[in-house]
Amino acid sequence: YEKEPLNEATVRKSDANDKAGRPLVELRHVDKHFGKLHVLKDINLSVNQGEVLVVVGPSGSGKSTMCRTINRLETIDSGEILINGQRLPQEGKGLAMLRAEVGMVFQQFNLFANKSIIENVMLAPVKVRHMDKKKAYDLAMDLLARVGVESQANKMPSQLSGGQQQRVAIARALAMQPKVMLFDEPTSALDPEMVNEVLEVMTRLAHEGMTMICVTHEMGFARRVANSVVFMADGKILEQGTPDEFFDHPKTDRAKDFLSKIL
Ligand code: ADP
Ligand code: MG
Repeated sequence: YEKEPLNEATVRKSDANDKAGRPLVELRHVDKHFGKLHVLKDINLSVNQGEVLVVVGPSGSGKSTMCRTINRLETIDSGEILINGQRLPQEGKGLAMLRAEVGMVFQQFNLFANKSIIENVMLAPVKVRHMDKKKAYDLAMDLLARVGVESQANKMPSQLSGGQQQRVAIARALAMQPKVMLFDEPTSALDPEMVNEVLEVMTRLAHEGMTMICVTHEMGFARRVANSVVFMADGKILEQGTPDEFFDHPKTDRAKDFLSKIL
């Protein structure tokens, strides 16, 4: 499919309001329990505008929970989360607005099964951003073209392959013109032959300057695309560094053990 870059209309590279070098997403001393389970332990993270952060770690280490706290699908016990310098509020209109800045793509594609592909992508801009339908349609078609599935626009999700559905899920998240995209193992549920088509779309987004936080086991992608890699285990960040530092010189036994199993 077409390899042309995502344009300004579909991806805001920067806002006049965004100061270069200021963290777009920041977690400060974030703690969370599920009952007795201490799932996030003093998590500190910051992702600057245009940066790609890859999060890796064994299953159960809290990666998904951390992602979900960033758009407040999960509450936190203590600490704070800032989006574009603003503290994530508990609820209300401010929360809805900040949430709209954060696009999220999950392992399961989560498309609305009873809506067509184009309707899936148009829905949030029309309902949440009150975009008029013609404009939302044009935006959605543009985004579907960018992820290479425009010919599927009038089909239902079940008629598409997993890789196509996941690309639609990315287009749907982009339709809200988020400032940051969170990807939680977006290729884990895909048949192997469909992994690359999704990683290609993500790589292109990164090259276009999208700020991204990606939980993934795709180490090739992490090496090529990440500015920074975070290794989590047991609810803690044990290592953070450049891809070369992390993959070539892991410091902790946990990371060495993890890498020996996955590489
Ligand atoms: P990862 O994404 O790294 O595999 P998760 O964030 O999904 O880890 O889970 C971290 C831990 O929290 C696991 O032990 C998991 O069973 C537990 N957990 C996740 N969600 C919930 C929940 N809603 N209620 C209780 N425990 C949960
Ligand atoms: Mg997970």
